[in-house]
Amino acid sequence: MSLNEPYDPDNIFAKIVRGEMGCVKLFETDDILAFMDVFPQSKGHCLVIHKKAEATNLFDIDDSALAELIGAVRKVAGGVKAGLKPDGVRIVQFNGAPAGQTVFHLHFHIIPIYEGETLGRHGDGGPAAAETLEPVAAAIRAAL
Ligand code: AMP
Repeated sequence: MSLNEPYDPDNIFAKIVRGEMGCVKLFETDDILAFMDVFPQSKGHCLVIHKKAEATNLFDIDDSALAELIGAVRKVAGGVKAGLKPDGVRIVQFNGAPAGQTVFHLHFHIIPIYEGETLGRHGDGGPAAAETLEPVAAAIRAAL
């Protein structure tokens, strides 16, 4: 999918926002949703999206919605930092399939980095069970 594709309201994250698909939630407001990545690259890998901005990528969102979204990214990353005590936190965002984007609803990845642990590859590996994600999510939530 190129950088200029129109927004597809049937993408996976839009279905999560509408409640048609489940997720392990971390944080939610009228506009923002943060949830665990089901194919985590490290313990605590999570995603933050804007629920109302129908943006395929970074180039489609207006400045005020983006400001709200990035503020939420920092808040959730703070919860990851305090709740999981990683050695580093990587914030990643892909635009267009050639850049690595696989879900075409703008999102930011928050990926905790633990020294000495190899990071899983983006878009690779098996899905984590909700029972595995839930205790990690609980630690993040408690620190938000
Ligand atoms: P990207 O490749 O940047 O578009 O990232 C999409 C991310 O969404 C990947 O890290 C996937 O592991 C993750 N993902 C895909 N489907 C789901 C889902 N149903 N719930 C949570 N995360 C998902």
